[in-house]
Amino acid sequence: MDNSNIKDIIILGGGTAGWMCAAALSRLIPDKAINIRLIESEAIGTVGVGEATIPHIVYFNRLLGLSEDDFVKHTHATFKLGIEFVDWGSLGERYIHPFGSYGADMEGIRFHHFWLRHKQLGSQTPLENYNLQILAAKAGKFQRPDMSVKNSPLNAISYAFQFDATLYAGFMRKFAEKNGVVRTEGKVTGVTQNPENGHVQTLTLENGQSYSADLFIDCSGFRALLIEQTLKTGYQDWSAYLPCNRAVARASQATGDPAPYTRATAKEAGWQWRIPLQSRIGNGHVYCSDFMSDEKALESLNADLDGEPVSEPNFLRFKTGIRNKSWNKNVISLGLAAGFLEPLESTSIHLIQTAIARLMTNFPDKTFAQANIDYYNSRTLLEYEQVRDFLITHYYVTNRDDSPFWNYCRTMDIPDTLKERLDLYKENARLYRHDNELFNEVSWFAVMQGQGLVPRSHHPIVNALPDTILDTRMSQMEKVMQSCLKHMPRHQDFIDQNCKAEL
Ligand SMILES: Cc1cc2nc3c(=O)[nH]c(=O)nc-3n(C[C@H](O)[C@H](O)[C@H](O)COP(=O)(O)OP(=O)(O)OC[C@H]3O[C@@H](n4cnc5c(N)ncnc54)[C@H](O)[C@@H]3O)c2cc1C
Repeated sequence: MDNSNIKDIIILGGGTAGWMCAAALSRLIPDKAINIRLIESEAIGTVGVGEATIPHIVYFNRLLGLSEDDFVKHTHATFKLGIEFVDWGSLGERYIHPFGSYGADMEGIRFHHFWLRHKQLGSQTPLENYNLQILAAKAGKFQRPDMSVKNSPLNAISYAFQFDATLYAGFMRKFAEKNGVVRTEGKVTGVTQNPENGHVQTLTLENGQSYSADLFIDCSGFRALLIEQTLKTGYQDWSAYLPCNRAVARASQATGDPAPYTRATAKEAGWQWRIPLQSRIGNGHVYCSDFMSDEKALESLNADLDGEPVSEPNFLRFKTGIRNKSWNKNVISLGLAAGFLEPLESTSIHLIQTAIARLMTNFPDKTFAQANIDYYNSRTLLEYEQVRDFLITHYYVTNRDDSPFWNYCRTMDIPDTLKERLDLYKENARLYRHDNELFNEVSWFAVMQGQGLVPRSHHPIVNALPDTILDTRMSQMEKVMQSCLKHMPRHQDFIDQNCKAEL
């Protein structure tokens, strides 16, 4: 190997970020050409939450070559078809932000324009009737895509998982260790830097043992031991846009068959999640400390548990935002060390996944070319900003005026990037996906419509389609969805037959 090549990597932290990174690098770097060590401290532990995902994780599993059934069994996972939002646009209203598309685009125009036109003509058919994932979620059904049926929504079913965060990190660990990653237990208490360029050189553990590497991946969670405590990289605080800064999580007993979707219920000063697993239900209350005390947040969470609690409350504090540079010198931060966007759309694990992909694309040698680092950082910032804007939409586009928290959110300043998007949509329902951003037009429409934002008009070309033809096509699409739904097995039956966990 060339002398300038990286020979040793240290990953600091063994939470979801650390072990996902270790698993991916150990799979992708050929011939174990680079030594990978992961240092973690059981005494410090992990954040212990992070259970709902989005469909891209299916590709991460494929990249690792995992058996999906095995993965589901070992992480006590269930399947997820979307997120149900309750009481967000107005109290008493609910909608599902689904994975997968609605209906079908026609004449090169997005489906949602046709639905808006149909509604304008008097149709009462709810949007959800055109999305198989929503219908299946509500009916408690699930199957993987069936590629043997052509031109059917059954071959395009889009899904993710809801799993036990601790078991997931353990599953990734097993994979990584099998692939040669060396795990070192211990608390890092000292860090040395190269006096000339400030690069991190060695990490010293409490027991005095020191380890050096060329590249350090900081997965130390909110502590951000290398990227912040050592390199003082700085943080962009986005809490004016996303003011929730606390959470309390608590698991409860499973009650009945698990639903194939996550629920996010808006509350007085934040929202609560409900994530059904095979073994239990994960619950949490995300709130803003300016508007609600910890005691009240826990009281509200306890009151909403479906079953008996099976864990003690886990209180967490965070500040929404992003590190000024995700990659600084020879330290790349991943996961909570890199930044935090609250879990409303289950995006954090995905952001770890894309950061790993970006790291592989921009993998450095020992020269650590600044151009690579700058590019990596600018793409990371853009990705976070795009997700941030999508999250803000849930809070800002609302009619709720029943608490000081919602009054703040409804009237707050928003980023210009989001303002532009909302203005375009309000006029004629135009939606654009910028730079292959995570959330596509379907997601933006689901949330804008679900939150109660009604555009003045729709794409004018849609009006050229004769009303009777539009009516026929819309009713055909609805029928196709219903007949697909009939074919699908119950979610619980699918799990029982393919991937039941040993509890
Ligand atoms: C309330 C909440 C809900 C969330 N829900 C979701 C969700 O539904 N979906 C989703 O995708 N994401 C969610 N997330 C985010 C998700 O939990 C994290 O992205 C994910 O768990 C990664 O965490 P991490 O590995 O970066 O940090 P951690 O889990 O905190 O791990 C940090 C690691 O660093 C180690 N460490 C720290 N300091 C030292 C030291 N000095 N020496 C040695 N080791 C050290 C620790 O021991 C630990 O192993 C949620 C986050 C929060 C706060």
